[in-house]
Amino acid sequence: MKTVSAISSLIVGAAVLLAPAAASPLSPVPANPARAASGSWSWPLPPVPEVVRSFDAPAERWLSGHRGVDLAGSPGDTVSAPAAGIVSFVGRIVDRPVIVIDHGSGLLTSFEPVRSTLGVGAIVGIGDEIGMIATGAHCDARCLHWGMRLDGEYIDPLLTIRDTRPSILLPLG
Ligand SMILES: [Zn+2]
Repeated sequence: MKTVSAISSLIVGAAVLLAPAAASPLSPVPANPARAASGSWSWPLPPVPEVVRSFDAPAERWLSGHRGVDLAGSPGDTVSAPAAGIVSFVGRIVDRPVIVIDHGSGLLTSFEPVRSTLGVGAIVGIGDEIGMIATGAHCDARCLHWGMRLDGEYIDPLLTIRDTRPSILLPLG
């Protein structure tokens, strides 16, 4: 029996050694990286902010809509990186301070109005402080606008973290 067991171990060991890298589970390229990233993103205003205005994709690129979500927050509140990335823009756009994080795979997130001491090229991890809510929000007074672009197209940021929201059981009927 010892011999059989020893041989079995040898066979298993050999199988592991001989297994080509390609035999490891493949991670297919997701059709929607934002959706695929579900679960690994966090709210920029932890723990769970109220969504005061949801994403409203414009019918056409040039039409008005709401290219992001507005989260309830007050000037001075700390804004956190919802995922790891590299700061790709810090500055003013029109009349408000904006910070943009490049998460790779064509995915960018932007936050406004946010004042940040970070510079372009700064590496941030999930949950890292990236700045503070400033004044000048486009929603009346108190909110953080969170925008997300995938390959240049605005998408709903909530796609990334919807799965981490507490589930709500609605009564049937
Ligand atoms: Zn907004």
